[in-house]
Amino acid sequence: SLAELKTDVAKNVRNFADFPKKGILFRDIMPLIQNSKLLNELCHAIANHVKEDLGGAVDAVAGLEARGFLFGPSVAILLDVPFIPIRKLGKLPGKTIKATYVKEYGEDIVEIQADALQPGARVLIVDDLLATGGTMHAAIDLIEGAGGKVAEAFVLIELADLKGRDCLPQHVQLFSLISYA
Ligand code: AMP
Repeated sequence: SLAELKTDVAKNVRNFADFPKKGILFRDIMPLIQNSKLLNELCHAIANHVKEDLGGAVDAVAGLEARGFLFGPSVAILLDVPFIPIRKLGKLPGKTIKATYVKEYGEDIVEIQADALQPGARVLIVDDLLATGGTMHAAIDLIEGAGGKVAEAFVLIELADLKGRDCLPQHVQLFSLISYA
């Protein structure tokens, strides 16, 4: 289960002080991504969590560029549903929907393809980390703007002190595997 993997996942996250700028303690999930056995177990556990805890199947997994792309597609395959990329401005062709937000280090615009979802689709959103919550809030706005419903916002790591959880829309459930003060 997810709970059983918590310790192993935490051991596979490295900390880098002052990256990408002074004052930020960067949580690097690459050791986890490169640990194929643990990553396999984690993706299966996320898929099982979706099946067992979210009150019904999801229709898609949406991942945030860039680190949501490193495990979101694997979870989508296990659930046998499409993976939908949420990307930085200017990367996706065709008609898109945009959302602007402020994040822990800088401001950004994210986009989703306007035809990415069937009306009413239930979507699991995944990212590596929740800091101020701006990125996840924008992703939620995009899923809802594209006609979908957020089944859950899922992150591996939550920086609890930044209270990003409290900035998300009340009707959306946030799950974090590991919480750091
Ligand atoms: P936020 O919008 O403030 O919640 O920032 C979350 C986004 O920025 C996620 O996509 C993370 O990948 C990235 N991020 C923010 N802070 C950190 C951090 N301390 N370590 C690693 N990634 C971070």
